Amino acid sequence: MYRNFRIVPNIIFGRGSFNQLDDVLKDRRVGADAFMVFVVDDVFTGKPLEGRIPLRGKDLLLRVNVDDEPKTKYIDELVARIRAYSPVTPAGIVGIGGGSAMDIAKAVSLMLNNPGSSADYQGWDLISNPAVYHAAVPTLAGTGAEISRTTILTGPEKKLGINSDYTLYDQILLDPELLAGVPKNQWFYTGMDCYIHDVESLHGTFINEFSKAYGEKSRDLCRQVFLEDSPEKDDKLMMASYFGGMSIAYSQVGACHALSYGLSFVLGIHHGVGCCIAFDQLEDIYPEGVREFRQMMEKHDIPLPRNVTKDLDSASLEKMVTTALGLVPLWENCLGPDWANLMTRERAMELYRRM
Ligand code: NAD
Ligand code: ZN
Repeated sequence: MYRNFRIVPNIIFGRGSFNQLDDVLKDRRVGADAFMVFVVDDVFTGKPLEGRIPLRGKDLLLRVNVDDEPKTKYIDELVARIRAYSPVTPAGIVGIGGGSAMDIAKAVSLMLNNPGSSADYQGWDLISNPAVYHAAVPTLAGTGAEISRTTILTGPEKKLGINSDYTLYDQILLDPELLAGVPKNQWFYTGMDCYIHDVESLHGTFINEFSKAYGEKSRDLCRQVFLEDSPEKDDKLMMASYFGGMSIAYSQVGACHALSYGLSFVLGIHHGVGCCIAFDQLEDIYPEGVREFRQMMEKHDIPLPRNVTKDLDSASLEKMVTTALGLVPLWENCLGPDWANLMTRERAMELYRRM
């Protein structure tokens, strides 16, 4: 069976397009009680971008903190705050920030229309009611969260996305000007998330011409950004992120992402840097990709955290391995149907020990 693939229906791309956000939301503001909730990364508190948010009438500016990657408990709290703010369901949710803020906005828009805790919906296609209208404005490029059908959450039992067609944004606004001001290491780590999406998609057994078309273009753009220092690098990275996301949506990521989930679940290491730490150990699986990644790292003089697992007891290491090996489709994509014989617990443990 082939997947019937839903995509984001409305996209604006261009420098300064943030100024059109008010116009985009106008049609959604129907009735006197209609209000928008702007879910904004609190890194922008008091910054010029915050002053440019088109707040009107009863709109709510909801600043969110992303020091920790999104947790189900935090999503539930934010939903409760919106419900306490107004008995009326918001007309729309607008996420402004990196992958974390965009994922929070997705999850909030789903949970406003679905009962219970967000932890109940971690998995595939467990959501029954469509989300509140939601739009995203990325301020950091690489995750592909702007176009993916998932919002990745850490719950009490697992780190797993709420994957559904309803998770997809209704609108995205890609303004490369908003990437200015991202700290350099963060720019690199999140950019590498995209590059690794491409490598894992292109080298996977699930690869097909659809994913290849997007993955090759995205990898090419990453090379222009990270090896050639193209003057249009923000515009290019924004499109690389989008294309990288499109590529994995019709294939899958692989070993690096599986291992990074273990790092994140046990040590709270953030996605981009966690992928870099894991990828650096995967020369056997992705020789060319890892070589090029190291070239990029050297060119930009980026440090990589080392020995992150050295103080872990064996129970924690086991938990990491269990988390990583539980992501069956990722391993199947990476190593084929015989993956479990190729990536044994011992081999995964050894990779973690080296990180
Ligand atoms: P992030 O959103 O966690 O942000 C990283 C840091 O950069 C934060 O401190 C943030 O405040 C700051 N920042 C963001 N934009 C900035 C700007 N313009 N200027 C200055 N600082 C800025 O980082 P990320 O790598 O974009 O996202 C990681 C998150 O995305 C993780 O939670 C991960 O699980 C998730 N993710 C989701 C998907 C998906 O498909 N839904 C895919 C990959 C990753
Ligand atoms: Zn990723």
